[in-house]
Amino acid sequence: MNTEIKNKRKNFICQIINNDFNENKNLSFCTRFPPEPNGHLHIGHAKSICLNFELAYLYKGQCNLRFDDTNPLKENIKYINSIKYDINWLGYKWCGNIRYSSEYFSQLYQYAQELIKQGLAYVDQLTKEQIREYRGTLNTPGKNSPYRNRTIEENMELFKKMKKGELSEGEACLRAKIDMKSDFIVMRDPVLYRIIFTEHHQTQKKWCIYPMYDFAHCLSDSIEGITHSLCTLEFQDNKSLYNWILKHTSVTHYPKQYEFSRLNLEFSILSKRKIKKLIDKKIIDGWNDPRIPTLSGLRRKGYTPSSIKNFCQKIGVTRQNNLIEFSMLEHCIRKELNETAIRTMAVLEPIKIFLYNLNKNHKEKFIVPNHPNHPEMGTHEIIFTNTLYIERSDFKEKYDKKYKRLKLGEKIRLRYAYIIRAEKIEKDQYNNIINIICYCDLNTLGKKPKNNKNPSVIHWISEKNTLPVEFRLYNQLFNIKNPEQQKNFLSYINSDSLTKRYGFIEKTIGEKIQQKINDNNLKLFFQFERIGYFCIDCIDSKKDYLVFNRTVSLRDTWNVKKIKIKNITNN
Ligand code: ATP
Ligand code: MG
Repeated sequence: MNTEIKNKRKNFICQIINNDFNENKNLSFCTRFPPEPNGHLHIGHAKSICLNFELAYLYKGQCNLRFDDTNPLKENIKYINSIKYDINWLGYKWCGNIRYSSEYFSQLYQYAQELIKQGLAYVDQLTKEQIREYRGTLNTPGKNSPYRNRTIEENMELFKKMKKGELSEGEACLRAKIDMKSDFIVMRDPVLYRIIFTEHHQTQKKWCIYPMYDFAHCLSDSIEGITHSLCTLEFQDNKSLYNWILKHTSVTHYPKQYEFSRLNLEFSILSKRKIKKLIDKKIIDGWNDPRIPTLSGLRRKGYTPSSIKNFCQKIGVTRQNNLIEFSMLEHCIRKELNETAIRTMAVLEPIKIFLYNLNKNHKEKFIVPNHPNHPEMGTHEIIFTNTLYIERSDFKEKYDKKYKRLKLGEKIRLRYAYIIRAEKIEKDQYNNIINIICYCDLNTLGKKPKNNKNPSVIHWISEKNTLPVEFRLYNQLFNIKNPEQQKNFLSYINSDSLTKRYGFIEKTIGEKIQQKINDNNLKLFFQFERIGYFCIDCIDSKKDYLVFNRTVSLRDTWNVKKIKIKNITNN
């Protein structure tokens, strides 16, 4: 048994499934991923996708993709397309055609009529507010609606009228007749159907009554032959309704619902409603902003499908609610990019170095490996001349003992090249350093210095080999670990979540990227030496203007202190 299977068998859902197989060797195992097409997918959905699809592979069953599309007011075809794209991107294949709850609307309507005929559903005409008021609370029981005891004939008649569009929105709804005093609030005569005069993306104008999620979900599961209906813990109470509906309709297949804890990720918001708010308030640029963990945001930031799947595997499946460390997600992509990203040099905040002892025509070419441990990844050429750029932060005029980079009178090694010594600086009228004049020791290529003391190494780019580009450095969007728990989560926005830098990459590398920039699936990952892992931003890059997103830093450096705390007050 491979370790993956062994690990999976450890989670509690696998134990349940193993038992089910022990009882029924011929079980035709079937799961589903059931998104509502009212937003784009995020890392939490990825957890559910991985769970459902991987279980189907493991138990040689099938996993369906079903859109639970019961609310045309919030749904949109663009979400359907993006959800399909994201699932494919993760590398999963759903079984057969895509399914929609809306395909089953006629069957669902029949099942609703069955309930009415058994005296188990009635058309209510309380207003929405009254229904809420009559429902009671956790501590107080609900009250029966005055419409609860209508005759079956009356209910059948009214329900038909609802379907025909003869009643207006909010004027009536169909409710299950269960128990207004139940300990489970969901069992206090839940609404099963409401009237909505909005065209549906799949059924167009065919229907003006729409089933509620709870009614459609269990019946759709049953119609599709789902054996294990996996959902997140907040649906635990809904299970009694799920089973009640199946029990009182003529279905012949009984799926079982099991709950697992939803993914909560540090510094992140996963609720679609709240993500929409961030977009509406222009705090982020859209669903694919690299600062939010939507799949499109993560993809744009440089995350790969395998890094996301590894992450989902690592966090496992339990029934305990917890907050997953952001560094765990970063660990997964860092580990992968450490092996796969091309290593090259980039300078984010350039400062000029002038090597005064070299001739102005001095030009050397060095062939450097794309990856130190993977010769099969090839090499690229860099150019060395008398004028170079280094990182502004790699030189200091005033420094303390700990400062190990370039300083006046001291030496440093240029990566892949020579040791240089800083001798003089030139400043502009505002006292900014504009040029560092250095001596280049031409006897030091690939050699240890005479005193045997190796100076630190810094990265650089020759002035003759620069391509100007934009770098985007991301920081956490929130300055607290659990913004999702805060009512006023918008008060915890980190004002420093995106920094743009305008610097250089090696032209020899840049030109290769420019040739491919029109390829929509361009996947190019780099380790800019000493800076971090970056990928090309496919949305904003143009042939003559490349933009790079920092995927992750080279080392795990997250801690709350790093994030500038600036609370935006509400006034
Ligand atoms: P949101 O809270 O973001 O609006 P949702 O649960 O309403 O999410 P759905 O489209 O209904 O979104 O989700 C589809 C599936 O993904 C459901 O089975 C749901 O349980 C699961 N899911 C959603 N969020 C998470 C999460 N954070 N962790 C694990 N599974 C999740
Ligand atoms: Mg939902």
